[in-house]
Amino acid sequence: MSAVDQRSSKFNLLDYDRQGLRDVFAQLGEKPYRAEQVMKWIYHRHVTDFAAMTDVGRALRDKLEAACEIVPPKTMFEKQSADATHKWLLGMDGGSAIETVFIPESTRGTLCVSSQIGCGLNCTFCSTGTQGFNRNLSAAEIIGQVFVAAKHLGNVPHRQRKLTNVVMMGMGEPLLNFDNVVRAMSVMRDDLGFGLANKRVTLSTAGLVPMIDKLGEVADVSLAVSLHAPNDELRTQLVPLNKKYPIAELLGACQRYAARRQRTTITFEYTMLKGINDRPEHARQLIKLMRQLPSKVNLIPFNTFAGTQYERSDEGDIRDFQTILLDAGVLTMVRRTRGDDIDAACGQLKGQVVDRTRRQADFRRRVEEGAKHAA
Ligand code: SAH
Repeated sequence: MSAVDQRSSKFNLLDYDRQGLRDVFAQLGEKPYRAEQVMKWIYHRHVTDFAAMTDVGRALRDKLEAACEIVPPKTMFEKQSADATHKWLLGMDGGSAIETVFIPESTRGTLCVSSQIGCGLNCTFCSTGTQGFNRNLSAAEIIGQVFVAAKHLGNVPHRQRKLTNVVMMGMGEPLLNFDNVVRAMSVMRDDLGFGLANKRVTLSTAGLVPMIDKLGEVADVSLAVSLHAPNDELRTQLVPLNKKYPIAELLGACQRYAARRQRTTITFEYTMLKGINDRPEHARQLIKLMRQLPSKVNLIPFNTFAGTQYERSDEGDIRDFQTILLDAGVLTMVRRTRGDDIDAACGQLKGQVVDRTRRQADFRRRVEEGAKHAA
């Protein structure tokens, strides 16, 4: 059995933000500032062994050894793509595994982090959705993904920064795992943690309106919204959550989020699906929505996966769609597909979800029926 499989009664220090760690140290009868010393060992030097923390007194080290542990997720498998995108499959308690992806570019390095094992939202064009939902990740399992990548990269916050951005765009819906995600994002932005600027940590949501408001109250991070369609009828087909929180309400929450901070733009993700949402009239509808708030659009060429009914839009259609938006003054980028040769591109992350729902079996049945149909 691996360390992560064993239920331990020790405090896993990766589970706490700075204040939480100070509380743990206070509970152990120690001075809270000692927690900050230890935090630096963990996130700046990637040390998990208390014995190696040489500026921490011997007595405290022994006490920590007895009551605490620092256990990042275990790497089960890792793979590098031809374009240097790096993907980790990380083992979680209970036999499931999740995926984390590092995307290096000339001026930045972005880590795409998962928040849940599987996802319950069932967006029809997303591979993670076909896996069903297993459980929320703990804060340690979320920040642990950053830890594993930072250690692999030899990242040193403030000095040798390889990891400059984190996007909560991996598996799962981060706003449905609110407390753990907020705590992990706090460590990402803490100087004693990974030291990232607020705007370099992005949370992406399918649009949970009340939780967007709640996020605005507690954390100052960049917000991305998975829009994918410019009208309710189409959006409900692609993102079933739209039935509960239709576009007008979603944009209202985005306006409130943006109004809380200066010079903030909300990013709207729009996966380009051939013949479904990529027509010029869709672009014109989208312009009207984007004019309602400070926004930019990220067009994502659809990444295919086994059993999907969708196809990627033609390159020319994506360009035309972008041009219509740009001509109307809507800042629009096309996201370059990275890591698709190792199934690390947007929407291709599936990990190994031990499914507690029946969705995966349903999906397989549909695929088989579809295959029969096509034959
Ligand atoms: N649940 C959150 C976080 C996931 S982010 C959210 O919905 O925002 C992953 C991003 O990739 C989302 O914008 C998602 O809609 C998009 N995506 C999902 N499947 C995709 C696919 N097959 N091809 C391209 N983009 C996809």
